[in-house]
Amino acid sequence: MISGNIQLASYLFASILFILSLGGLSSQESAKRGVMYGIIGMIIAILSTVLGEGVEGHTWIIAAILIASIIGILVARKVEMTSMPQLVAILHSFVGLAAVLVGFGSYLDPHTQALTGVDHNIHLTEIFIGVFIGAITFTGSIIAWGKLDGKIRSKPLVYPGRHLVNILLVIGCIVLGVFFAKASGTGGMMYLYVMTAIACFIGVMLVMAIGGADMPVVVSMLNSYSGWAAAAAGFMLGNDLLIVTGALVGSSGAILSIIMCEAMNRSFISVIFGGFGAAPTGPAREVTGEVTSVNHEEVAGFLNDAKSVVIVPGYGMAVAKAQFPVHEMVEHLKKDGKKVEFGIHPVAGRLPGHMNVLLAEANVPYDIVMEMEEINEDLPETDIVLVIGANDIVNPGAEDDPNSAIYGMPVIQVWNAKKVIVMKRSMATGYAGVQNPLFFNDNTDMLYGDAKDSVSKINGFLKA
Ligand code: NDP
Repeated sequence: MISGNIQLASYLFASILFILSLGGLSSQESAKRGVMYGIIGMIIAILSTVLGEGVEGHTWIIAAILIASIIGILVARKVEMTSMPQLVAILHSFVGLAAVLVGFGSYLDPHTQALTGVDHNIHLTEIFIGVFIGAITFTGSIIAWGKLDGKIRSKPLVYPGRHLVNILLVIGCIVLGVFFAKASGTGGMMYLYVMTAIACFIGVMLVMAIGGADMPVVVSMLNSYSGWAAAAAGFMLGNDLLIVTGALVGSSGAILSIIMCEAMNRSFISVIFGGFGAAPTGPAREVTGEVTSVNHEEVAGFLNDAKSVVIVPGYGMAVAKAQFPVHEMVEHLKKDGKKVEFGIHPVAGRLPGHMNVLLAEANVPYDIVMEMEEINEDLPETDIVLVIGANDIVNPGAEDDPNSAIYGMPVIQVWNAKKVIVMKRSMATGYAGVQNPLFFNDNTDMLYGDAKDSVSKINGFLKA
């Protein structure tokens, strides 16, 4: 057992470690250190809570931690990098569910019932809001998991008047909140259950209404909600560390969502409410032209002749695990005296920072990894662009077709380079489900096949 003062000091120390952890995660160089701070902070947080005064049932707690840790380790070891976004989404749903259950438990707790006056009202408000946010996070995250995993179609589910329905449902929850606060004893439980059901429905409808290319923002927004749900649970339990941690996750998730909205040229409000802004008024422009394809030897020849090469990776590079042969190719081209750079789109892949993680895993030096704005400036002077398993992030329709589902999203303007090679397995569309006119351009050639296989074969020709 540790005293209240030691617990408070440990909480403060853990909070500082969490802040350092977030700071560390802001760049590739310091990310590992950031993760380490987070792990140490979490161990301190758990130990000082479990060993705190008034905590009973240690055997149960230790058993739960052991079982959960084993499940966590097994899942983390098994999960493919490409399935990471789904895992993150489902973990968010657990935080939401935990907040709901803590809310129910807290309401039925005799200590809550013993509170009177303002304290009682404040506590009931904490419970009601915590359960509301938790329930939206819970079902919203499950739908996000389904959409990311391809179990639910990524096309937005929209129906006329849905914003009005959502607003009426929220008003209904507020009315239930008033009855809940007025109920005596545990008589408000029924109102809490009904509000939970409505909030679960709102969570489903909000995420169902969001279309393919806007999913990254939804994932980071649900991350933010899960933080607020945890902070609400912290208020209900009177746990300062949970409040601080929840607020850190909630605010960093909100900042990330805003940054991603800016990167995608979307209004934050319009994404949250599922396409509040202008919707396409007609079908996307029909793509015309001829698609030409090349083989691996020809691509190796183009690369040999080029002085400057830009590589634009996307989700397909992650699926194929092509980052390792790609790094090998880069080393070879650099040794030959060519200028080689990567162009990274902020929503490439299925997770914020997905491509940066993959390239770091393959030891690609950070100084040749450029952000979208930087690389777009260099593209007109680039001899050849290799688009490896990317699609939506290099779609010119996002710039010039107002009826495209991704219209307005800034993209990497690979078509400005002298030559473009697109490596993918077929003419299939990307996550947003829209055809890509880039493939039909005169200066674009397709190289069909699995990205890892294609890059390895090109490497073979380059070495020969
Ligand atoms: P896309 O999903 O647009 O395209 C990926 C392409 O990779 C596909 O067209 C596919 O074509 C190809 N591909 C798949 N497997 C392989 C393989 N083994 N070898 C070669 N190619 C392969 O990915 P982008 O990265 O261009 O864009 C990301 C999209 O995902 C955006 O719409 C974004 O909004 C969305 N998104 C992003 C999230 C994020 O946080 N980054 C989260 C959720 C969604 P083919 O089948 O023909 O091979």
